[in-house]
Amino acid sequence: MSATSPHTDRILMGPGPGNPYPEVIEAFSRPVMGHLDPEFIVLLDETNDRLRQVFRTQNPLTFPVSATGSAGMEATIVNTVGPGDTIVIGINGVFGERMCDVASRCGADVVRVEAEWGMALDQQELLDAHPSPKVIAVVHAETSTGVRNDVTEIGAGKGDSLLLVDCVTSLGGIPLEIDEWGVDLAYSGTQKCLGVPPGISPVTVSAAAIKRFVDRSPSWYLDFSMIAAYVTGGAARAYHHTAPISMIYALHAGLGVVLNEGLENVHARHQACGDRLQAGLVDRGFELFAEEGHRLPELTAVRIPEERLPDGMSEADVRSVLLERYGIEIGGGLGPVAGKVWRIGCMGHTARQRNVTMLLGALDELMV
Ligand code: PLP
Repeated sequence: MSATSPHTDRILMGPGPGNPYPEVIEAFSRPVMGHLDPEFIVLLDETNDRLRQVFRTQNPLTFPVSATGSAGMEATIVNTVGPGDTIVIGINGVFGERMCDVASRCGADVVRVEAEWGMALDQQELLDAHPSPKVIAVVHAETSTGVRNDVTEIGAGKGDSLLLVDCVTSLGGIPLEIDEWGVDLAYSGTQKCLGVPPGISPVTVSAAAIKRFVDRSPSWYLDFSMIAAYVTGGAARAYHHTAPISMIYALHAGLGVVLNEGLENVHARHQACGDRLQAGLVDRGFELFAEEGHRLPELTAVRIPEERLPDGMSEADVRSVLLERYGIEIGGGLGPVAGKVWRIGCMGHTARQRNVTMLLGALDELMV
C-alpha cells in the first residue's frame, strides 16, 4: 500500500476511529467558508444545538473544542481545578490515569479511587473519598477495558462538588443523560460512536461549573471563558481561533445522522451489535474481559486465548492478518493488558451486523 492511496474498504473495528458515516464523508467536500461567515455561524449554532440534543442537556455552553478528545479532557480540567483544589478521580484504565496526569499538572490535589482493570468503579467509594472535593471525575466508557462506569449515584450524592465525565466512547453509543444525571462537565470525541473522523472534542458545561471556573486558566487556547464569547456570543461573537471548518461540517453531518436515526434507535443498534459479537466470542471459547453488567456494547475487550492462536503466530500477527487478508482492524491491549486482550469496536457506522458477521467468520477461519 502506498502512503498516498489509503485503503477505502477497511472495516475499522478497533477502539476508534470507527468508519465514518457516508454523509460525513460527503460533508468534507463542501466549499470551505470563512469562520466568521454568517452562514458558517448558523451551521456552528446548529451543531451546538445538535450536540445539546445528543448530550441530552440544556447547557448553553455546549460546543466543539477544536482538537481531539484529550483536549476536551484538558479543557474541562484546566478551567476548573488549580493549585490547592481537590479532585477525586476514578481510575480503572488508561483514561482515568490520563485525567490524573492532567489534573496534577494543574497543581490540583488528586485523590485517586481505583478499581482493578476490567472491573467497574464503586460510586460510593468515589463519594466517600473526600468530604468536599471541588470535582469528582469519572470515565463513563473506559476504552482500554470495555467497562461502563455508572455515574448516576455520584450525580445524586455529589453535594457542592462538580461532576466531570469523560464521554469519549459513550456519546451517541449508549444512554447518556447529562442534565438528568447531574453531570456538570463532559467531553467527548468525534471518532467513536458519532461516526466522524478524529479531531474535535464536543464539550458541555453547566451553569454551576461556569460559576466555579478558576480565575485564569493556565491554558490560553482552552480557556472556556474566552471561547464562550466566540461560540455562544450571538452578535458579540469575536475571533478566538480559526475554527476547523470542514471538521465542523463533518460533525454537523454526523450528529444529523444520529438524530435522524433517533438516539434510542442508535443505542439499540450499538447494543444489538455488541450483544451478538460478545455472544459469538463466548461461543467460540473467548473470555470477555469486562465485568458482567458493566460491558460496553461499542467496545468489547476479550482475553486472547494463547493456545488457540495459529501455529507460530503471535496475537499481533493475527491482528496483522485480519487487517491484510480481511481488511478488518481490531485493537491490541494497552498498559498492563498489552498482549493479553484484544479490543473490538462496534461504533457509529461500524456498528452493523454485517461487520460482526465478517469478524466472527474471519476468526473462525484463523483461530485453531
Ligand atoms: N478518553 C477516552 C475514554 C478515550 O477512549 C480516548 C481516546 O481513545 C480519549 C479520552 C482521548 O481522546 P483522543 O485520542 O481523541 O485525544
